[in-house]
Amino acid sequence: MPELPEVETVVRTLETLILQRKIEDVLVHTPSIVYFNDGFKEQLINQTIQSFSRRGKYIIIHLSDCFLIIHLRMEGRFFINTSFERANKHVHVSFQLDDHRVLHYQDTRKFGRMLITDDVNESLSHIGIEFNDPAFTPKLLFDAMRKSKRSLKAFLLSQEVITGLGNIYVDEVCFRSRIHPETIVNRLKLKHIKIIHHEIKAVLNEAIALGGSSIRTYTNAMGIDGLFQLQLQVHMRAQQPCIVCKKPIIKIIVANRGTYVCTHCQKELK
Ligand SMILES: [Zn+2]
Repeated sequence: MPELPEVETVVRTLETLILQRKIEDVLVHTPSIVYFNDGFKEQLINQTIQSFSRRGKYIIIHLSDCFLIIHLRMEGRFFINTSFERANKHVHVSFQLDDHRVLHYQDTRKFGRMLITDDVNESLSHIGIEFNDPAFTPKLLFDAMRKSKRSLKAFLLSQEVITGLGNIYVDEVCFRSRIHPETIVNRLKLKHIKIIHHEIKAVLNEAIALGGSSIRTYTNAMGIDGLFQLQLQVHMRAQQPCIVCKKPIIKIIVANRGTYVCTHCQKELK
């Protein structure tokens, strides 16, 4: 599943490729991809792509009169060619642009979703604050954690307080903070939360910077899926030595997700 940094890369790549293009026609091959299907095509025709942004893992395309919100979910990706025809059965929506190019949405699992809205804030009101929003402070995190009985892993995955941390980056944040992911968050002191806050920003900034350097690769018509990864310190390293203490990393299940932890470096706070 693309995580926030990959989605950010997709947004920046689309920006370099199709900004200011006008949508001339739309083909929806798979209606389930599109929320409130009625008038989807009609609302998009003749709209100009004015800018792009991202909220959590949602891609937001700013059009002349509305916004198109897209969530890639598990396997969603874009590619561009010059044929309006359906290249394969995994292409679900195609956008004919005014420069003879066509933007295709491909998704082998069909879990991705698209929605047209006039009000992005209302449509995405359920998701939490961005890691790079100035309002995201240790104090905000502390106040939210004090009221929660979730594990650190479940809390960070929930997207309710802070958005955009998926399974991989939550493991990295817990490891770099030296806190066991099963620690109940109301046990954490402000000094721990300051470290967690710092590591959330550091991990996501590093990953986005890596994605930014790989944008050129995705313009080679191989598709835009933003696939790249941060140098992972703990995630997917079961049985390998911890980079700090050399003891083996173990894999456990926390919040129903495969979770990698060094039980020597990451203590559970009780
Ligand atoms: Zn260790």
